[in-house]
Amino acid sequence: MKYDVVIVGSGPAGWTAGIYAVRADLKVLVVEGDQPGGQLTITTKVDNYPGFSEGINGPELMEVMKKQAVNLGVEVKGGLVSGIEKTESGFVVKMGREGIETRSVIVTTGARARWLGVPGEKELMGKGVSGCATCDGMFFKDKEVAVIGGGDSAVEEATFLTRFCKKVYIVHRRDSLRATASEQKRVFSNKKIEMVWNSQVKEFVGKERLEGVKIVDKDGKESLLKVEGAFVAIGRDPATEFLEGKVELFESGHIKVGFLERETMTSVEGIFAAGDCVDQKFRQAVVSAGMGCKAAMEVEKWLG
Ligand code: NAP
Repeated sequence: MKYDVVIVGSGPAGWTAGIYAVRADLKVLVVEGDQPGGQLTITTKVDNYPGFSEGINGPELMEVMKKQAVNLGVEVKGGLVSGIEKTESGFVVKMGREGIETRSVIVTTGARARWLGVPGEKELMGKGVSGCATCDGMFFKDKEVAVIGGGDSAVEEATFLTRFCKKVYIVHRRDSLRATASEQKRVFSNKKIEMVWNSQVKEFVGKERLEGVKIVDKDGKESLLKVEGAFVAIGRDPATEFLEGKVELFESGHIKVGFLERETMTSVEGIFAAGDCVDQKFRQAVVSAGMGCKAAMEVEKWLG
């Protein structure tokens, strides 16, 4: 058998699982996926990951975790996993035509940005519509933009965008934010941010580039918010499509764990899971790292 464990995904859960598994003397491969480093690579400063007294940038944090894993002996491979097949002696992790043999698997594929699915969104992607303020914010210097959503991501993006933009609207479907109290305070005290409450986006309008966002309020009244940029920040979906029909999933797509009295075991013995592809509640880097640790320790025990 080529590996004791193949870890699918390279966010905090994946690297932590790798570090613990390799320290347990297992032969470990991490498959990095289509966004190496995961969601933290598209955030700015992370202030709440313990161990960094001045905070650390998301991409840098992931780079450090990867380095630590590699220094300890974790092998790394780029690319996407398309499926996991059970064999008599373990599993084959499929990457297109290639198959990697392993005795066990830890899935740490995390989550991906959710989109509104309204007209103009796909067409104007990269032409004013974006899912990442950190990546694209600087293209909207001195312009007016909108952020759609009411959670921590939306308010964080809005605050970040005020560094460049003349004005930032937050378009939210309800009349109160879901974001944490401290983030809300920052938003409400920022003069460049204006809240657009009780409003849903109906369409992204524009030909060559975004010219505005058509919104509808709770009374059904439509209006056009003239902005040159729009950032969709309405949450994330677990990246688990490749497991459909293979392991038990919740309706939301999150992986069910806790089988055979192991916290991180999925419904298929030998396949474990950790991080945002499992977690419906906390979705924090440090929680994912903790789950990755648990998965590696349970794999070690299970392999015997
Ligand atoms: P979230 O907390 O699930 O919030 C999603 C927001 O988008 C909600 O306000 C929701 O509205 C809105 N929304 C969802 N679907 C919509 C739709 N179809 N149309 C219009 N609005 C829609 O997602 P998130 O902000 O990405 O945060 C995810 C997790 O990561 C959270 O646990 C958050 O605390 C965490 N996070 C933490 C940090 C940090 O600690 N620094 C930073 C970012 C994210 P409703 O409120 O009406 O449901």
